[in-house]
Amino acid sequence: MAKSPEVKLAVFGRAGVGKSALVVRLLTKRFIWEYDPTLESTYRHQANIDDEMVSMEILDTAGQEDTQQREGHMRWGDGFVIVYDITDRVSFEEVAPLRGLLEEVKKPKHVPLVLIGNKADLEHARQVATEEGERLAADMACAFYECSACSDQGGGVAEAFHELCREVRRR
Ligand code: GDP
Ligand code: MG
Repeated sequence: MAKSPEVKLAVFGRAGVGKSALVVRLLTKRFIWEYDPTLESTYRHQANIDDEMVSMEILDTAGQEDTQQREGHMRWGDGFVIVYDITDRVSFEEVAPLRGLLEEVKKPKHVPLVLIGNKADLEHARQVATEEGERLAADMACAFYECSACSDQGGGVAEAFHELCREVRRR
């Protein structure tokens, strides 16, 4: 199997949407209920994607950094996961501005991106319809996944990160 270079991925989204829970799910296939919300960490992860070993460095942002820190993270990354919480409309409304900032920081480069609507297990508390997520992703020309960090039966979390790696490596 060919060994490929490292792909740097950064995870963005409002505090509390489940960024840390998604990253921990990807790395351990487990759900950790409580995670220090102010913590910013990077992780290394390897996965077989289309018969190639891909090394990822994943930055789990805290979601409460100032603009300067945020732009630094954006310059660092090759690809980006923007997460919102389907039970929190405000988190959904923060996606477009985040994407706008990404475009600005990375200009004139194309920005590899995937959109995740997390907490899909909380259907009873849903504030953002699946179609709205799909439409936003279509506007941003990126892949879209509804996921749940706590019951990831279909493996959607890994699929989202793998698709992002593909998108980065297509460029
Ligand atoms: P972050 O601030 O974006 O890193 O969010 P966290 O990963 O710390 O998660 C915030 C809260 O949401 C925690 O209490 C998690 O247990 C909870 N949470 C995260 N993902 C999910 C999910 O998919 N479903 C449910 N029900 N709760 C989740
Ligand atoms: Mg976190």
